[in-house]
Amino acid sequence: MIGVTGSRDGLEIVPDGEYLRPLKFRCSEQIVKRACAKMGIPMIPARKAVLTEPYDGRPPCHYCGHCMEGCDVGAIFTVPNSMFPKARKTGNFTLLANKLAREILVDREGKVRAVSVIDTVSRKEEEVRARVFAVCCASIESARLLLNSRSPRFPNGLANSSDCVGRYLHGHVTVDLTGYLEELAGTTPINNDGATDHSYIPRFNQDGKKRAYKGGYHYQVQYSSFMFPRHAQYLKGFGRSFKQQVRYWQPGFFQMGGFGKVVARPENRVTVDRSRVDAYGIPIPVVRFRFGENDVALWKDMKEKAEEILHAARTQLVRSEQRPTGFASHEVGTVRMGSDPRTSVLNAFCQAHEVKNLFVVDGSCFATFPEKNPTLTIMALAVRAARYISSEVMKGGI
Ligand code: SF4
Repeated sequence: MIGVTGSRDGLEIVPDGEYLRPLKFRCSEQIVKRACAKMGIPMIPARKAVLTEPYDGRPPCHYCGHCMEGCDVGAIFTVPNSMFPKARKTGNFTLLANKLAREILVDREGKVRAVSVIDTVSRKEEEVRARVFAVCCASIESARLLLNSRSPRFPNGLANSSDCVGRYLHGHVTVDLTGYLEELAGTTPINNDGATDHSYIPRFNQDGKKRAYKGGYHYQVQYSSFMFPRHAQYLKGFGRSFKQQVRYWQPGFFQMGGFGKVVARPENRVTVDRSRVDAYGIPIPVVRFRFGENDVALWKDMKEKAEEILHAARTQLVRSEQRPTGFASHEVGTVRMGSDPRTSVLNAFCQAHEVKNLFVVDGSCFATFPEKNPTLTIMALAVRAARYISSEVMKGGI
């Protein structure tokens, strides 16, 4: 449906799929791949929803390097550029722009009857009615919306008799490292833009060895612009020789980002503060989060291993963060899925245990979260939920 570039690598930790042509490694990535191979660590072409050949009426990537700002030709899969046109063609799709959901309203039986929205231009409030409601506001805002939807039937927030809504917030613990490869320093600069990251180092610690932590991490590489001289701020000197040094190292630029598992814990949570409201009068979310012991131990190993890889690739001027950071916009877990309504909010189809016509189809449904990026799993779960909704509606079950 989305078009994914990649290659079939036969690794159990990242099972193979059907891919469009893989992205080619840059020189810097070839050098690091060689170093990884000596350490027994695989480095494979990146797998992501970027087209390397024409697909589904969309053009392929032209390697302009601006993926993080939005792809002007639609080579990256996004819902607005890829799905809205298809939905429009069905004639069954209406996009209501500038509507901010304030609260979900239920009837006497406890089913959702409408969502109350504020028009952000006119500031008027209105109700949008439907038979089935799918919330997809991401982990902080989905929890906020449910917690702000209180009623006599659900005094603790919608679908929240378990008190799990807002709890178990987690995401990725991250580390960002940059360095400069000796082999490329001083070479003539070339256009290295590409489609940001072309390669990927999947988890490699699932070897059964005893470690001080549970879980794993992976590395994404070369996902920032090659144009910006990050090292200029910490090189010494000034004037002509300083500029020469900056130029000398820049062709060797190499970036590694570690993304590690974080343990889902109930005390890490989103609540709402009813005494403080946003510009539209809606109570704001409050986020409380601390990394646990396991998260910190994993982060240390992830950082040290990245430094080893950069050292093996003969990299100079290595810089990295000194303490765990997160979540890399990968927040998950505040409206968790599970089979027991006492300890979870949603069933396996992202349907609220307590409210039959309410679905939550974003990362907040995750009960746990490995080192992998969440978006494609969110999409797969949303497709499963959509198929379930359509079959239940046909049967009259919702
Ligand atoms: S590099 Fe990124 S933004 Fe540029 S065309 Fe390719 S996918 Fe789109």
